[in-house]
Amino acid sequence: MKNYVFDIDGTLTPSRLPIEKKFETFFLDWMNGKNVYLVTGSDKEKTVEQVGEKIWSSVKRVYQSCGNQVFENGKLIKQIEFHLDEKMEFLLNNFLASSNWTEKFGNHFEQRVGLVNFSIIGRNCTQDKREQYYQWDLINQERIRICKTLMHKFPDIEASVGGEISIDIHEKGKNKAQILDEIEGEIYFFGDKMDKGGNDYPIAHRLELEKREHKLFKVNSPTETWNLLKELN
Ligand SMILES: [Mg+2]
Repeated sequence: MKNYVFDIDGTLTPSRLPIEKKFETFFLDWMNGKNVYLVTGSDKEKTVEQVGEKIWSSVKRVYQSCGNQVFENGKLIKQIEFHLDEKMEFLLNNFLASSNWTEKFGNHFEQRVGLVNFSIIGRNCTQDKREQYYQWDLINQERIRICKTLMHKFPDIEASVGGEISIDIHEKGKNKAQILDEIEGEIYFFGDKMDKGGNDYPIAHRLELEKREHKLFKVNSPTETWNLLKELN
């Protein structure tokens, strides 16, 4: 049986925002009788806020925090811990102080289950500033540079670009790809960050590496995902 795995930010919903109502209705109907999984760097609260309680509890499994916290039909079944050590924190604070992006809004470190989310602009920024930073980072590649430096200095950890303004930091291997250990059979994967350095890359890369039966659906927006699902029907 086919397994349908969906990233959330940029794939089912606009980044950090709720799913479009009509798409929610469509999706709930579409997923009937299918093996559907969600995978995201966010926590449960944020995901429920984004996709709604109905989708959240009706899918087979939700992999929160890049699979470090797993819910099956709404019930917690697995949890892994991770915390920054002093040296990592020091390095990240240096990035914060030396960034060419000078507007900071607070909430730069967010402890999540199994990972730390780090943001130069800060998660307290407005939607407008978030968009500005995202565009700036596309040109300046700051987040990719931070990830590379972190992984070079701390070989036991992994860092990847996620969403529009932040990076996810966790133990090596504890990225989104770990969910593949728990899903058997063919996988259809939908994500918006499958290129190297993106947080969907580990899944896409491992699927290709292991020559497992799969199909990758690289999307640029929830609308594109919606259209692809209509075609699949
Ligand atoms: Mg995404």
